[in-house]
Amino acid sequence: MNTDRNLGIIVAGSGPVGMIAALALSATGARVTLVGPSPSSTDRRTTAVMRPALGLLDGLGVLDALRPKAAPLKVMRIVDATQRLIRSPVVTFRAAEIGADHFGLNIPNRDLNATLAAAILERPAIEWRQSLVEAWTIGECSISARLGDESQIEAALAVAADGRMSSARDAAGIRTSTRSYPQAALVVNVAHSRPHGFMSTEFHTETGPFTQVPLPGNRSSLVWVVRPQTADELAALDDAALSVRVEEKMQSLLGRVTVEPGRQVFPLSAILPVRFAQNRVVLVGEAAHVFPPIGAQGLNLGIRDVRDLADIVERNADDPGAQDALAAYDRQRRPDVLARAGAVNLLNISLLSDMLPAQLARSAGLGMIGGLAPLRAFFMREGLQPGSGLATMLSDLREQVRR
Ligand SMILES: Cc1cc2nc3c(=O)[nH]c(=O)nc-3n(C[C@H](O)[C@H](O)[C@H](O)COP(=O)(O)OP(=O)(O)OC[C@H]3O[C@@H](n4cnc5c(N)ncnc54)[C@H](O)[C@@H]3O)c2cc1C
Repeated sequence: MNTDRNLGIIVAGSGPVGMIAALALSATGARVTLVGPSPSSTDRRTTAVMRPALGLLDGLGVLDALRPKAAPLKVMRIVDATQRLIRSPVVTFRAAEIGADHFGLNIPNRDLNATLAAAILERPAIEWRQSLVEAWTIGECSISARLGDESQIEAALAVAADGRMSSARDAAGIRTSTRSYPQAALVVNVAHSRPHGFMSTEFHTETGPFTQVPLPGNRSSLVWVVRPQTADELAALDDAALSVRVEEKMQSLLGRVTVEPGRQVFPLSAILPVRFAQNRVVLVGEAAHVFPPIGAQGLNLGIRDVRDLADIVERNADDPGAQDALAAYDRQRRPDVLARAGAVNLLNISLLSDMLPAQLARSAGLGMIGGLAPLRAFFMREGLQPGSGLATMLSDLREQVRR
């Protein structure tokens, strides 16, 4: 049986990754139906989107509208704020060291989602059904979704961008491994009396990282990872008391702190699927990988899922849901996702661990990175774009050998 060439692609899920996928796939010429509700305007989180991912947003024509709402990240520091026997030195990464003005932009999720939604509404080629997929039927040559309004959509490929509890992933029969951490992230934005100098600081503590990321003006966003009970206690404090706790935690780095209205608590977990595509379904974003918010990786990885998927869809325009296309997607995404998820989970576990070898390894690793400029540059480039750190290091080596 042949697949009907007129069948398009369903993107299930209208979070940031689903909306970016709809825009990027439509730019390849594919017919796209996006299914999902209008994005929530209550998300107080901000996302540090790094330079390669910004390039993709620029290509989709949404970056100019986002720049005025965002702050550039020029310097990133890791401070070991544990009270442990073995502690790491402060590690500072400067974008200027790798010849860049900034590593990325810290963008409020509300603005990111609103800008993406507006861009989708301007593209007549994308049909947006503001509903939920209720059930999937997977056939040999197509996949169909039954929506909440009882309508049915048939497609050659379904893109599961429906988040960590993905029902499209379940329908495709893709199993996952899940780990829940004894941690939750308290998210709050603050104003402070001293300028941040476009520097982000990640304080590593025994319960997880406390991360400050600059916003425009004398403002920053905070992700404070603690035990779930502590997160609830902190979230219940009044503004004045929480401001004092935050200022203490930041070691008064940015002077007097005033928390802004609105707090959110996110329980932390890690989810990884056994494969990234199967039965006419490909996984992107949190349907494909969930891990703790350390080092600003999640959405950046989701944007790389979309970049690779758009490439594969373009090369398999006849049937983007065919077995070969799905296998190519799985091959392409597996190393990147496993490497990022592995590194973030390992770092998180080493923070939580009371065991001396884990502390020693973390401290020695960070110490080496902090002390050696070429190693630091390697990690900065790798952090932005997998493979680019190694490529630059090899090209530098070749240059030295030639001399
Ligand atoms: C505290 C915190 C801070 C973070 N900071 C960063 C950062 O600085 N940098 C970074 O890169 N990442 C960061 N992340 C990770 C980032 O937020 C996630 O990777 C990203 O939000 C995932 O987006 P998504 O679109 O895949 O999923 P989601 O945002 O969960 O969207 C899923 C969507 O699918 C919809 N949906 C669900 N079921 C259905 C259905 N049946 N039919 C249709 N639609 C459905 C939902 O309504 C939702 O809109 C952070 C995460 C946390 C928790």
